[in-house]
Amino acid sequence: MSKPFAWSYSVLTSFEDCPRRHYLTKVSKQVSEQPSEEMTWGNQVHKALELRIKVNQPLPKTMVEFEPIVAKVATAEGVKTAEQKLALNRDYQPTTYFAGDVYVRGITDVTIENGRKAVILDYKTGKPTPASAQLKLTAAMTFAHLPYIDTIATGFLWLKTGGITSETYTRDDIPTIWQEFEPRVQRLERALIDNKFPPRPSGLCRKWCPVGRALCEHCGT
Ligand code: SF4
Repeated sequence: MSKPFAWSYSVLTSFEDCPRRHYLTKVSKQVSEQPSEEMTWGNQVHKALELRIKVNQPLPKTMVEFEPIVAKVATAEGVKTAEQKLALNRDYQPTTYFAGDVYVRGITDVTIENGRKAVILDYKTGKPTPASAQLKLTAAMTFAHLPYIDTIATGFLWLKTGGITSETYTRDDIPTIWQEFEPRVQRLERALIDNKFPPRPSGLCRKWCPVGRALCEHCGT
């Protein structure tokens, strides 16, 4: 029996970037994708910051430059949760991360609850970019899990600069957020049902795609 359909922001954007690459690396797993140096570094930084917030473990020497930024997070007023796992079913109601009815999953780097307001931060180790739909998805999922929260300021915290790209949402925004995602998610689900994953050539084909010429004619072009 095939697994019930479930998605996350990274799964959705992987599919949208290139359906063929997504299928081969994440669905059939015919091709293994080695993490880049940047990804490995990003994962190490996330783990260190998680431990800094959860158990006040000092950052390793290679990351001390982030201490002033993380100290502000650690001392901010409110209840902090690091690496909060969020999972909703198809009715956008909370469920557990590996439940049989899970439909959408996400993890927030740090959530700070303060009364009826919350701040959610997503650590970023790369260069600052504009806000993305990831922020609103995080807000909608958190509203479902924390029913006493009315307002969420959600943002990317750029560790190299200390800057924040932030957006604020209220419960009134929830229907619009899901309406925005639904057509995108339906295209992903339809591709899985029809088993159709066409290539989508882009600047990734030349150097950044692990698929290989035997499985995609655009590889290396
Ligand atoms: S080479 Fe390009 S089109 Fe082909 S799978 Fe990779 S990213 Fe997609």
